[in-house]
Amino acid sequence: MAFAFWRRIVIKVGSALIAPSASGCSTRYLLTIAHFIAQCRLAGTEVVLVSSGSVAAGRNAIVAKQHPLPINIKQAMAAVGQSRMMASWSQLFDFDCAQILLTHDDLQDRRRYLNIDNTLRTLLANQVLPIVNENDSVATAELKVGDNDNLAALVAIVVDADALLICSDIDGLYTANPRLVPDACHIAEVAQITKEIYAMAGGSHHAIGTGGMLTKIQAADKATKAGIDTLIINGQDANSFSRLLNGEPSGTRFIRQQERLSAKKHWLLNSLKQHGTVHVDAGACAALQQKGASLLASGIVSCSGSFEKGDAVLITGPQQQPLAKGISQYSAYELTKILGLHSGQIAAVLGYCPSEEVVHRNDLVLLN
Ligand code: GLU
Repeated sequence: MAFAFWRRIVIKVGSALIAPSASGCSTRYLLTIAHFIAQCRLAGTEVVLVSSGSVAAGRNAIVAKQHPLPINIKQAMAAVGQSRMMASWSQLFDFDCAQILLTHDDLQDRRRYLNIDNTLRTLLANQVLPIVNENDSVATAELKVGDNDNLAALVAIVVDADALLICSDIDGLYTANPRLVPDACHIAEVAQITKEIYAMAGGSHHAIGTGGMLTKIQAADKATKAGIDTLIINGQDANSFSRLLNGEPSGTRFIRQQERLSAKKHWLLNSLKQHGTVHVDAGACAALQQKGASLLASGIVSCSGSFEKGDAVLITGPQQQPLAKGISQYSAYELTKILGLHSGQIAAVLGYCPSEEVVHRNDLVLLN
């Protein structure tokens, strides 16, 4: 799938592009990337940016003589650098940017996952550019995703992106590290990520970021398995971006392994345990089956089982026939209080309204 068809993309930009000299941010490469992001948005493609650079951008503000840097020093650097990095991006755009800081735990926990998903959707619907990074100042090793390549893949899965663009300091994957092996060949397309592909990636080759080619392949592996095309492009070369805008190939493209819908379907149907049942009326049944609509409280007749917000539920029709499986934005307790209500009445009854939909259409799979 090429640029013209991208509805939503995630772009990952590494520390080597944000703070090339590892002392504060530089606009050297960011200007071109910002221009590309603006062009994507003008063409109607929603963009989520995953930006590294907090540690590198804050490095010169904290005195540190130790090697390797202790975790508390890196966390202090990240605290300084994160705001520097956000400021650098913000000055390049004439639209709002929003900071989202995540840890691995946030993406594992279903409730927090849903909140992240809702926040990102709301930001995109309001034409705000979400800028995501790992919450480096609070996350210790076991809480971390660890590198922003893998974080970007997880974010791409959360926002249901069409493509993941990983900006590197090299134009994609080579048969060997071209900095060490001069006759290494560039690979334009990867149909399947095999162990040979992993072997080509070797280890990290850059001193500034944590990643390297290996984490980029891991990210491509995760994203393509979830139905998302992944590109590793050279973020230092303006041509990589103009080629993409012209619909031409750029960098290395990893082809998605399945349709995006079936990836989510697979996840919903097989990975998520069903915690309860929600019975809907004939109107909601038709809206779900024929219009691809979300499930609203107004169409719900009753519910059974004990489920929490974020749990998967079975949705059944007027004859108790199974219709769909989806993730509920409300607990069973909350739902019993809002059955049959219009979305606008929910806040008056519960005191809050986390979502207008009980099950959002993106979190719902119809059963045949
Ligand atoms: N989150 C780290 C930072 O902002 C970078 C991690 C990475 O480079 O992959 O400094």
